[in-house]
Amino acid sequence: MSETEKARTATPGGDTIFGKIIRGEVPTTFLYKDDVCVVFNDISAQAPVHFLVVPVKPIERLAVADQADEKILGHLLLVAKKIAAEQGLSDGYRVVINDGENGGQSVYHLHVHVLGKRQMEWPPG
Ligand code: 5GP
Repeated sequence: MSETEKARTATPGGDTIFGKIIRGEVPTTFLYKDDVCVVFNDISAQAPVHFLVVPVKPIERLAVADQADEKILGHLLLVAKKIAAEQGLSDGYRVVINDGENGGQSVYHLHVHVLGKRQMEWPPG
């Protein structure tokens, strides 16, 4: 199934693969972990470096985050830049949040993609 098809059939709500990863139910190598978020490589990397920053709190998507999530959202970006530096992305990188069907979201647990080590194009597909 293509990523677009996955996004079209993904169902908001309920548990997701990321919940299982956070709970340790799926063997995963974490690049970083703290009380607020975890970081691991995307299983289907779209660039030589492609990792995901995922909050422990199962916020479904950016569109439903609220004021109470302000600290979490800020934390995700600061962790993204810290791990990007650790991964050697000194020439820059792309940070992406896909939201909902039109945004191409396929896993309904908010996450920040960080992609690097290749030239990114604009506009994205
Ligand atoms: P979205 O399409 O929701 O923005 O991104 C979801 C991402 O999660 C995709 O890039 C997909 O490759 C990744 N993904 C889906 N299932 C797994 C998994 O089991 N393990 C890991 N590491 N990544 C996953």
